[in-house]
Amino acid sequence: TVRTRFAPSPTGLLHIGGVRTALFSWAYARKHAGTFVLRIEDTDLERSTPESVKAILDGMHWVELDYDEGPFYQMQRMDRYKEVIQQMLAAGTAYYCYCSKEELEAMRAEQEARGEKPRYDRRWRPQAGKTLPAIPADVKPVVRFLNPIEGVVAWDDQVKGRIEISNNELDDLIIARPDGTPTYNFCVVVDDWDMKITHVIRGDDHVNNTPRQINIFKALGATLPQFGHLPMIHNDQGQKLSKRRDAVSVVDYDQAGFLPEALLNYLARLGWGHGDDEFFTMAQFVEWFDLKDVSPSPSRFDREKLLWLNAQHIKVADAARLAARVAQFLAEKGVDTAGGPALTGVCALLKDRSQTLVEMADQAEYFYRPLTPSAEVVEKHLTADDLTRLAAFAAGAAALATWDQPTLGQFIKDFVKEQGVKMPLVGMPVRAKVLGTTHTPSVDAVLALLGREEVLKRLAA
Ligand code: GLU
Repeated sequence: TVRTRFAPSPTGLLHIGGVRTALFSWAYARKHAGTFVLRIEDTDLERSTPESVKAILDGMHWVELDYDEGPFYQMQRMDRYKEVIQQMLAAGTAYYCYCSKEELEAMRAEQEARGEKPRYDRRWRPQAGKTLPAIPADVKPVVRFLNPIEGVVAWDDQVKGRIEISNNELDDLIIARPDGTPTYNFCVVVDDWDMKITHVIRGDDHVNNTPRQINIFKALGATLPQFGHLPMIHNDQGQKLSKRRDAVSVVDYDQAGFLPEALLNYLARLGWGHGDDEFFTMAQFVEWFDLKDVSPSPSRFDREKLLWLNAQHIKVADAARLAARVAQFLAEKGVDTAGGPALTGVCALLKDRSQTLVEMADQAEYFYRPLTPSAEVVEKHLTADDLTRLAAFAAGAAALATWDQPTLGQFIKDFVKEQGVKMPLVGMPVRAKVLGTTHTPSVDAVLALLGREEVLKRLAA
């Protein structure tokens, strides 16, 4: 059965490039009724932080990419890596190398002087008929992987197609440092082996690691997984997305009022497509997804398209769920919603006119306190004539027997006729006076939600 994994290094916030990798791994597992594993690659002690681990777990939770196993932490698997290193030493697929730093530097200088590409000269690599140097007393050895010298490493990348690398381009990789700690590429292989990963789906910034990892898999006698390397995401200037330049962490999108399903829908479309389908659910994505349809070239991040998708997802989202998030945005603006109309009703009304939940909160605000109209709005819609008409409007509204949208709709129609003016000459001043802005849904709907008492109070203010 299919087993995939997402293996982030906890060195920062959860990046949208990482979310896309996670999404594709997750979707592949879900599509094949397989297992999705989360593994935290925290062996880089200098750059890994607990805050970052938390950001990754929170981010995965926010986008609702549920994992079946994990999180596993590499730091908790150190004994296992060391055990495998011992096994490899015993099997002769790895060896101790006692080169000191100075020796390596000298080696490098000589090679460069000869115009060669600097590389480890396999000095300590055991070979039939070769005498190894005497073991120096003062050097703690590293452990190197005995990479094959002949032949090629090749794999059929599920995204990029066949890739071949000649073995003589690959050094004997260090798999354990002098203090015995295992190195990155080695841990990844042991984990993917132990966790029985069948499909390694990751960013193509790792494509150079793959031939080295494949050789280690083979040396371990492990079954090779399939590999699929996803193209990078570029910003609108065609540069690799950067933490400094671009909004890249999922938290940024949550705070900008995006729905997780909209972000996932957008990320799914980056480098993958299903006909002309743009707007879809994750269930549809899982049904349609195949690694073979992922484009091997980098994709460009397009915020406008993300905004459009967000608007589509807001339209179909549950109003109570939107209200829960909009309530937080309103609280941040210092808007007290207690005593005002139920926020769920407000969000239901604003669903069709908001690209983000921040925009929705901005519009929701006038249900809880009138905005201050701009000078332009006052000049255009609150003239002396308008104010006279508004007084008549208030009197008529106060006398209504019931206060609901149909009644208000009829009342406004009748009032417009009675005044002998066009609809906007009533609708705009009412909006300007009661709400402080003219950009609102239909007047009857807004007045119905606001309630008689509040409307009359604002009209009289
Ligand atoms: N830890 C690596 C990263 O964060 C991913 C390694 C892998 O997927 O093999 O980029």
